[in-house]
Amino acid sequence: MARAVLHGIVVSTGIAIGKGFFVNKNPESARHELVPLDRIESEAARLQDAVDTVAAEFAEARARLPGDLRRHADVLTSHLLICTDPRLGGEALRRVREQRMNAEWALEESVARIADIFNALSSPYIRDRIEDVRLVTDRLFQRLSGACAPHPTGGERGILLAHDLTPTDVVDLPIERIAAFAVAQGGGTSHTGLLARSLHIPAVIGVFGLRKEIFDGDLLIVDGLKGKLLVDPSEAELAAYSDLREQYAIYRKRVAAYAVHPAETEDGVQVSVLANVESAAEAEGVLSAGGEGVGLVRTEFGYITRSSLPGEEDLYEEYAGLAAALAPRKVTFRTLDVGGDKVFSRGKVSEEANPALGLRGIRYCVRHQDIFRTQLRAILRAGAHGNVSMMFPLISGLSELRLAKSILNEAKQELDDADVPFDPHIPVGIMIELPSAVFMADALAREVDFFSIGTNDLIQYTLGADRGNRHVAHLYQPLHPSIVRAIKQVVDMAHKTGISVCVCGEMASDPYCLPILLGMPVDELSLAPQSIPAIKHLIRRSHARQSRKLLDQALFASTANAINNMVRQAVHSAFPEDVGFFVSQLGVNR
Ligand code: PEP
Ligand code: MG
Repeated sequence: MARAVLHGIVVSTGIAIGKGFFVNKNPESARHELVPLDRIESEAARLQDAVDTVAAEFAEARARLPGDLRRHADVLTSHLLICTDPRLGGEALRRVREQRMNAEWALEESVARIADIFNALSSPYIRDRIEDVRLVTDRLFQRLSGACAPHPTGGERGILLAHDLTPTDVVDLPIERIAAFAVAQGGGTSHTGLLARSLHIPAVIGVFGLRKEIFDGDLLIVDGLKGKLLVDPSEAELAAYSDLREQYAIYRKRVAAYAVHPAETEDGVQVSVLANVESAAEAEGVLSAGGEGVGLVRTEFGYITRSSLPGEEDLYEEYAGLAAALAPRKVTFRTLDVGGDKVFSRGKVSEEANPALGLRGIRYCVRHQDIFRTQLRAILRAGAHGNVSMMFPLISGLSELRLAKSILNEAKQELDDADVPFDPHIPVGIMIELPSAVFMADALAREVDFFSIGTNDLIQYTLGADRGNRHVAHLYQPLHPSIVRAIKQVVDMAHKTGISVCVCGEMASDPYCLPILLGMPVDELSLAPQSIPAIKHLIRRSHARQSRKLLDQALFASTANAINNMVRQAVHSAFPEDVGFFVSQLGVNR
């Protein structure tokens, strides 16, 4: 038996075996000292020196980024901007000079203030950006303490262990020497997953006890299927996992070989499988993964990776590039889904007591119409270069939809008046993420071209369970009867009106949710490119008729457990050879 088994969340699948080595250990709590008056300027100089050195490291890392990691250049740019942002270093310097705090203490205080601001935001994507501030600060702490990054010892590939991970940590190291990542921190949208997926190595984040249970040089197994980390495993465990690693590699190859072919069930029902992306840089990855287009562009990344608001030309270039790269396949841009104005302006922060129920999604855009119109014009113009659709997030009802559409019409008029080419017939859809939209689906369907169900938010708002809060994770149930019934109602209403339905939340990539979604039946699934080959493989081995029967039973069930058991049984008997390679958010396979 292994000395310890730690658990975490899989953000990139696979199995790895190797010795662990730590980078950027979480600094112990910062030293708090009052600096004597005659040492204040030298303490300020020590801090300034750390900021300058770390900023130079980010710039250098960006310049050295290897080809397959180019898409992370934006992240390094944003880290460089955070590092040189006056709210971090400048504020800390002020605290050294005015409050006589030592450099570490002053930095800690600056970060705490910035964290307060970020925590007031509702979008999990934006909230996760506080991680970036912390990553930059950790590096500053390291620099202040004189520490530098260790390397794996010996010629073997090692398991990179970290409190948290930045692209800089990775480019500091020979990439071919890293077999997997295991990270203590990291929300679901952290860079660790993006990085690991680009490198095709397994990664597990949110590993509890990482620092306590593992020492540099310990032999580890990273189980990036079940989200486990085995410390100092037994011979039998090593043998079993070496075997699993091989089988998984064969499985991935087999599944990938057919990725670019259409996905049709055994009884002839075709399902479009599209990709969720964050930037135009992902176009090539979408195609090689077998994505038949893009069902969701999370456009907020184009905003938060910049230090100031992007202009219409910036956005237009990016969107048109993506549309052209994937034409004639469709690309659906979701309009900006952020939680508050503080992301863009360096000015005042509007605090909200309940940010998830506050000014987010379409509410933010109709409040800040200048930002909204700029984006709408860019999307409309990109429509002239490919097969573009757009959709509005977090629509709660008809009036909100009508308002958004009237602003869209004005944006069209502005382009028309200026003789700028654009697609006036861009299909317009909405995301179904709120229970109110589910109840009003019949009326909403009559005024849009398609629905896209954002199950991540629909589950959160229907069950009243924060999608990022581990204390209520047990209540966040994708196959809760209320969710199954809600999706069914939306699909029925859409089809009755003759519009299509896509599912673009995490449910679309969960093998245990697949039969339920096929049974609805949804027209399209949109998911992370990495998951596309496996989901297409499972669709090809599914029966639409059997899925409908399973759904009918699920619609009669009254608990999530009952539905989970039902799908578990169905999936295990339909795909017996595949289940060992599943990663499920239901957790029923754990
Ligand atoms: C969703 O809510 O399911 C969704 C796809 O949007 P996001 O995860 O970006 O909120
Ligand atoms: Mg959402």
